[in-house]
Amino acid sequence: MSFIDKLRAGLKRLMAGRHGADEFSLALLIAGIVISMLGSILRIGILSLLSTALYVYSIFRMFSRNHGKRYAENQKYLSVWRQSTSGIRQFFVRLKNARKYKYFKCPECHSRLRLPRKVGEVTVTCGKCHHAFKQKA
Ligand SMILES: [Zn+2]
Repeated sequence: MSFIDKLRAGLKRLMAGRHGADEFSLALLIAGIVISMLGSILRIGILSLLSTALYVYSIFRMFSRNHGKRYAENQKYLSVWRQSTSGIRQFFVRLKNARKYKYFKCPECHSRLRLPRKVGEVTVTCGKCHHAFKQKA
């Protein structure tokens, strides 16, 4: 058995039954690296302490045997991440389709709606609040 094989087997034994790395642990590590770099650029010592805390918490999560709690934390993180980036993703979808569709908001509930371009003036009924109004496209 080579050294690498022994190392691999040892690591497998060490991580058996543990939660391991997930998206939240990875995000904590990346946030730690970014905060640490900011701390050294701006020469703010407390940021290096904060980045160390993030590394420790990330490693704690990877070695944790409480799968249920770590899974719930990861799901919560993913939901917050999706919500905070959905506006950016929707913006790029609108940008991509800007030649095909005219985008506008419902005057009542402010939901975003769209119409194919060149349909002229039509009566639009909002799918969310059922308010009907005239719109040019
Ligand atoms: Zn509406």
